[in-house]
Amino acid sequence: MIYLYNAHIYHNAKFDAQLSGLLIDKDRIVKLCFNNDKVNPDWEKINLNGAYVYPGFIDAHTHCFSGGLYLSGIDLSECTSIKEVLEHISNSLKNNQQYIFAWRFDEEKIAEKRFPTRQELNSVCPDRPLLLRRIDGHSCVLNSKARAIIPGLTSSNEILIAEDNDRAVNWLQDNLSEAEIIEAYKNAAQAALKGGFTTVHTMIGDAQMSNQHYKLVRDHLNEFPVSFELYPQSFNIRDALELGAKRIGGCILADGSIGSHTAAMTLPYKDKNTRGILYHNDEFWQEFVAQAHKKHLQVAVHCIGDAAIHQINSAYATQDREEVKELRDELIHCEVTPDSLIQEIAKSGAVAVMQPAFDLLWGGNSGLYSERLGERYKIMNRFQSLSRQGISICSSSDWYVTDMNIAMSLYALIHHHNPQEKLEPIEAIKSYTENNSWLNHTEDNLGIIEEGFIADLSVMDTDFTKLFDWNKVRTLLIIKDGNIVYDDR
Ligand SMILES: [Zn+2]
Ligand SMILES: [Zn+2]
Repeated sequence: MIYLYNAHIYHNAKFDAQLSGLLIDKDRIVKLCFNNDKVNPDWEKINLNGAYVYPGFIDAHTHCFSGGLYLSGIDLSECTSIKEVLEHISNSLKNNQQYIFAWRFDEEKIAEKRFPTRQELNSVCPDRPLLLRRIDGHSCVLNSKARAIIPGLTSSNEILIAEDNDRAVNWLQDNLSEAEIIEAYKNAAQAALKGGFTTVHTMIGDAQMSNQHYKLVRDHLNEFPVSFELYPQSFNIRDALELGAKRIGGCILADGSIGSHTAAMTLPYKDKNTRGILYHNDEFWQEFVAQAHKKHLQVAVHCIGDAAIHQINSAYATQDREEVKELRDELIHCEVTPDSLIQEIAKSGAVAVMQPAFDLLWGGNSGLYSERLGERYKIMNRFQSLSRQGISICSSSDWYVTDMNIAMSLYALIHHHNPQEKLEPIEAIKSYTENNSWLNHTEDNLGIIEEGFIADLSVMDTDFTKLFDWNKVRTLLIIKDGNIVYDDR
């Protein structure tokens, strides 16, 4: 029995001053202890020195493989010359890696204003394939080993872009050893713990027909210090069923992104004469959702522009509404939502799985969204408006796109650029705990601090119900299934 005491404990949507401690037995919270309750001398006591104890935070949408892989790669973001790049690569090589990833390279920050040449890369890494990726992921260069081993590259240029860039990156990622794949997830788990999370929903698959290493990760789930909830991110329903998945999808794409002018809008962009792209027609999605529902699979689809959200929500809406509600079908991102569309979503029963940090990074009247869409930036990431119509708001980072950082994420929800779309702190906390547990159909035993619930707890140094500076917040302790899995007190 572990007894946590001398802490502020978040219970019934507040820090309950009467609550003096929590008793944990094995993986469960077995007792909420109040000020007059007796403390048994046999309990193992942990003094939390006035820290703040929340239900374990849950991130409802991430890409942990890419994120984790990049963490064990060579980060070039601090380099300011070609010499530094080469030295940094040379000093960072590890014997156990068969392929070398160097990433976050930005030639704008390099004195020579260029990429390293193939010869230069060969001089520091002659014996193994090396891929050096630009910071935005949209171009890369290879050493000779990588160039020789990766099939199907069409350009003879040293700097690869577009399809050659995708080919090179995907080939190397698909050819990693099982140990390297597992290591990427272990890195991801550590990043999640540091960011304050106990459970992370993560996408595995190429967003076409392959679920890649889903089975491998599924078979190693108990080796990670956080829970990974897996999404077979593909259109392959049969494969998802064979893998034992209870859902299908993730960032399977209805449209692209605002930044690249490919998110599908009903009206043209402000800075380019385009409405973006719908990648599939209505019938395609209706058929896909119908087939998935026949097998009782929860569906999740990436949709950002209002035309794409309308298309996916309509595919959900043509199904039995009770079934959509019961399965909790997901509109991933759900960014541009005029009032009429919010009404449609409220009727279909779909869930909005959103990214608060997107508004923090790109919202407001001078942000990227305003540059691309003009006044429509005001009808983006509408946490409050969706929530007011009874639509469940589940929140996430989309890591590696934004950091897994609960303090930044809650701050973004509480301080939306548009005051009408802010959430109250308790609603923001609920979004990252109860709502995200509900999304995973685990609300009966996870997501709040209550007797009988699973002992997943995030212990932070900060009261998120008051004003806080997210940059200064620290995760002190993470308890997962009743065990301490992270301790930075
Ligand atoms: Zn997406
Ligand atoms: Zn995503």
